[in-house]
Amino acid sequence: MKFSAWRILKEGLTGNKGWKPHWRNPEPKSKYDIIIIGGGGHGLSTAYYLAKKHGVKDIAVLERGYIGGGNVGRNTTIVRANYALSGNSEFYSYSLKLWERLKKELNFNVMHSQRGVINIFHSDAQKDAAVKRGNAMINQGDDAVLLNPPELRKLLPYLDYDNARFPIYGALYHPRGGTARHDAVTWGFARGADLHGVDIIQNCAVTNINTRNGRVISVNTTQGTIHSEKVGLCVAGRSGQVAAMAGMRLPIESHVLQAFVTEGLKPCIDHVITFGMGHFYISQSDKGGLVFGGDIDYYPSYAARGNLPTVEHVVEAGLALMPMIGTARMLRSWGGIMDMSPDGSPIIDRTRIEGLYLNCGWCYGGFKAVPGSGNVFAHLMATDSYHQNATKFRLNRFRDGVHLMDEEGTGAQHNLH
Ligand SMILES: Cc1cc2nc3c(=O)[nH]c(=O)nc-3n(C[C@H](O)[C@H](O)[C@H](O)COP(=O)(O)OP(=O)(O)OC[C@H]3O[C@@H](n4cnc5c(N)ncnc54)[C@H](O)[C@@H]3O)c2cc1C
Repeated sequence: MKFSAWRILKEGLTGNKGWKPHWRNPEPKSKYDIIIIGGGGHGLSTAYYLAKKHGVKDIAVLERGYIGGGNVGRNTTIVRANYALSGNSEFYSYSLKLWERLKKELNFNVMHSQRGVINIFHSDAQKDAAVKRGNAMINQGDDAVLLNPPELRKLLPYLDYDNARFPIYGALYHPRGGTARHDAVTWGFARGADLHGVDIIQNCAVTNINTRNGRVISVNTTQGTIHSEKVGLCVAGRSGQVAAMAGMRLPIESHVLQAFVTEGLKPCIDHVITFGMGHFYISQSDKGGLVFGGDIDYYPSYAARGNLPTVEHVVEAGLALMPMIGTARMLRSWGGIMDMSPDGSPIIDRTRIEGLYLNCGWCYGGFKAVPGSGNVFAHLMATDSYHQNATKFRLNRFRDGVHLMDEEGTGAQHNLH
């Protein structure tokens, strides 16, 4: 079923009776060529690219709940390519290019909106860092513009420029950055994967990963044992738990990250804006709600809800940057479980168990990675070689201590990136 203007017209004139479900609801088979654990953004996109690009037709995505019920449906949807370190920079640049044609690729409106990401800075030192990052982005082939205060004022007149503690010195502007619609990305990839024959099995929690002679042979699930000699883990905040089923201990901690949305307002914030002196970022959704967030809650947890001190901290930072939001009423907040890696960068690698592959460590930045990650992970699983844009996301960097990609240069601690 293809979406097109003609199809919408036809359905509109015939009572919308021709639309079909976007994916099937199949019973699991007893064996697949490849099993992907986790029906979030990364799991679904991996399955999609495995089927579409590598011709693997016998794939199952096993999801313990419903697809999109994890972080892919809980995030604040920022999509950007403003990384500086080699390893991250080429990967996110590649991913952004895939975003730019994702709507066509999936024939599904993922509502990718390149409204621009603006990182505000508040000191000379931060300005230097922004210039350095901007140059790295330009060298990578991406876009970056340094804005001085008068230029910034034209774009964002409502910021508190003369705040005594956090005066605004300017900003780094990334015009191709922006947002997308999280559910649509999930549904678009699910629909695309299903069209290529992938079985998406919901309400199917993996409870054990079985190995023999050092290689994976099957998984136990709440819907029975399913055999496969290739299994990919895409379970984000549950990575530690699921890897433990295969006897592995990962360098991952799970932390809650909260987000917030206000009542719907008339359009007032046209960009994604981040505050340089505290962890706060904001954009306005197409429904009008101001969507914002900040730091993780600083204790490991699997609870998908957060604590009040973090709410206070985020709101304080927001009010320091743009006091006008103080009059908006907050509608709701929620949390997601982050797979925090020690250097803030992801892991896409084989494991010591033959046939078992790992995709995790996305911290709070994995949404923008969804098309890139699916592509490179599919490449790894299909060919057993690293994709040219993902050669540095290796697990052994934590053992050797070299090639760590501590992106913000703030020290290799998860609570600092
Ligand atoms: C509040 C918040 C704001 C964020 N903001 C941004 C942002 O602005 N930009 C950005 O790039 N990133 C952002 N992120 C991060 C991003 O959402 C995640 O990095 C990314 O979604 C993680 O990958 P995923 O989509 O595959 O995860 P998920 O959607 O969590 O998918 C993992 C799936 O695995 C399933 N699973 C777990 N255990 C099992 C099991 N045993 N068996 C079967 N299935 C299992 C889960 O149910 C889940 O559906 C944010 C996250 C949060 C929570």
